[in-house]
Amino acid sequence: MKRTFVITVALIFGLGLLAGFGPFEKAAEAKTTFVTIGTGGITGVYYPTGGAIAKMVNKKRKEYGIRATVESTGGSVFNINAIMGGDLEFGVAQSDRQYQAVKGIEDWKDKGPQSDLRAVFSIHPETVDLIAGVDANINSIQDLKGKRVNIGNVGSGYRQNAIDALEASGLNFETDFNAESLKAAEAPGLIQDGRLDAAFYTVGHPSGYYKEATSGKRQVKFIPITNVDSLLEKYPYYAKAVTQVTTFYPTAANKEDVPTFGVKATFVTSAKVPDEVVYAIVKEVFDNFDDFVKLHPAYTGLTKESMLEGLSAPFHPGAVKYYKEVGLMK
Ligand code: GLU
Repeated sequence: MKRTFVITVALIFGLGLLAGFGPFEKAAEAKTTFVTIGTGGITGVYYPTGGAIAKMVNKKRKEYGIRATVESTGGSVFNINAIMGGDLEFGVAQSDRQYQAVKGIEDWKDKGPQSDLRAVFSIHPETVDLIAGVDANINSIQDLKGKRVNIGNVGSGYRQNAIDALEASGLNFETDFNAESLKAAEAPGLIQDGRLDAAFYTVGHPSGYYKEATSGKRQVKFIPITNVDSLLEKYPYYAKAVTQVTTFYPTAANKEDVPTFGVKATFVTSAKVPDEVVYAIVKEVFDNFDDFVKLHPAYTGLTKESMLEGLSAPFHPGAVKYYKEVGLMK
């Protein structure tokens, strides 16, 4: 009994401190606003992207009182849900996933439209790619029948891209092959070990994922995804794309670049995140745009204007304030 009482008192006291009514109220009073950016697996481009954005704003920590940190996560769907649940303030998410969350479709069919989701800006293009061990004799999506294929973890953005690509080629992941639901970080090693025949992933380039997958003993190649017309007709967020395999992954078995389809990476937040915080982040990225684009080769070719395109959630008011100030928005 006594012990329970002591624990209860300790808990109440502890919670009081957390809530800011303890004796340390002054010290705990937010001089610094901590924000966390949800990204993806560490071999993707979201993780360094979160790092790049955090770096820009943390440089001005004294001025803004914002401290941004980055978290490796399961990807787009996880990030959007964690932002909506208040567990993350910001996240990187595929443009198709942003669209679906706003509309309340696909992974949000049961939850409905995520009306508090807000767009901040879009970032680099991402392509939907399929790689396979050369010895697995896979030359098209149809050849995946009966193989072991990673379609991605639930919570990732790319899982639905894989399912859509398969469907467009008349394949069903539940019946036509052994689908694995592994996180992106695990797949390259399993491809190299021969424990996976093929794997899908949607990412900007160059990425550590494909460098790792193509630089081991097993020869690995990118498989063209050409049955995309029905996808483009059906889904407004997909566009044709080419993966620059020869430029970025010279150790892959391909002699040419590979056609596929793609989306964009976007930076999102919640309507509940204060305007000043969103404003500060946007200002630091856009005022120092030349420094920002140097932080990852996937940002080559980005323009300030292009970073306001490909978004379906309403812009956060903190972002709108900056875009209007500099004339990027009327
Ligand atoms: N597009 C991937 C996803 O949302 C993540 C890519 C990355 O981490 O760069 O699942």
